[in-house]
Amino acid sequence: MNRFLSAAVICLLLPMFFAGCGAPAQYSENTFYAMNTFVTVRLSVSDTNGTPLSKNRLAQIHKDCEDLVRAVENSISATVADSDTARFNASADGINNGGVFFTKLLTQSFSIAEATENAFHPALRPLSVLWDFGGEGYVPTSDEISDLLCHIDLSFVRMEGSAVYKSDPALQIDFGAIAKGYAAALVRDYLQTTECRGGLLSLGGNVALFGEKEDGSPYKVGLTDPFSSDRVLGYLHRTDGFVSVSGSYERYFEKDGVRYHHILDPRTGSPADSGLVSAAVIAQDGTLADALSTALFVMGVQDAIAFYECGVYDFEAILVTQDGRIIVTEGIAASFDCTASYTVQISSSEAET
Ligand code: AMP
Ligand code: MG
Repeated sequence: MNRFLSAAVICLLLPMFFAGCGAPAQYSENTFYAMNTFVTVRLSVSDTNGTPLSKNRLAQIHKDCEDLVRAVENSISATVADSDTARFNASADGINNGGVFFTKLLTQSFSIAEATENAFHPALRPLSVLWDFGGEGYVPTSDEISDLLCHIDLSFVRMEGSAVYKSDPALQIDFGAIAKGYAAALVRDYLQTTECRGGLLSLGGNVALFGEKEDGSPYKVGLTDPFSSDRVLGYLHRTDGFVSVSGSYERYFEKDGVRYHHILDPRTGSPADSGLVSAAVIAQDGTLADALSTALFVMGVQDAIAFYECGVYDFEAILVTQDGRIIVTEGIAASFDCTASYTVQISSSEAET
């Protein structure tokens, strides 16, 4: 997807009191490009007592947010030379000096992979590279896929403090499904330590909300319609937390009339064919929200709802199926306002069908 299209999608994900993509006067906005996407931070221009923040102070907070996102990117992006992830991937047996972003994210990735039975899998990089989603796109043969699948195994990785070892040199980490949510969570944590009254961060399909809006009303987060990504599917009314969306419309290529999207099913090594076109997750943990939106997409409706109901994590979800149904989990149904003409079901009724 080119930069202009992704900018349009980001605007749709922004809370709608910012409609038109220009920040109202009571907000201060900074947009920059990092982690392969546009990042927008919007801050209330007053503090928690309603006292205006100085321009210098707002500029400092914006700079801190940007520095933090870039620090995360430089540490964990597989495509940044000398990042911990790139060094680990290039090594034969691991690295003995992983930074705190790398080791923490790896630890959380392992536990989410286990909980989702590897629907979220942080070691799919060899497959994503083979499919060339970042370039022209390539449809591999089944032999090429099976040759790589045997290297996609987290039991080959062992952590000891800042040392991360691998017993298979071909194993490679890809934080693409979780890194943006992790960066969003760190920025939100930082913003909560400032005196700023409230605001939001939008980072490639992840929205973080913090503090209060000037008028005290909930934020209104627009979700992209996966069938027409310049339209809005509906609005979520939220006061805080994170919203992450994974969709087959976000990155794909077409060959011989077939569309191949970037979310892989780790069991097959091919684009997940789960019957979903998008999965949104709403949670208080931004890293979890990002990883789970990818995992639910891979699971499909039945398994995703069963996973929701087993209660291992606290989250809500909005799933959109290829046949135009929207399945909303019970805890979020009252705060989701669907504006598109699709059938909306609450998850418990889906479980019965
Ligand atoms: P997201 O947009 O958050 O769903 O992340 C998708 C990105 O994560 C892809 O572009 C790949 O880099 C990577 N990825 C693809 N499939 C998976 C998966 N099943 N588990 C973890 N990462 C994945
Ligand atoms: Mg994700």
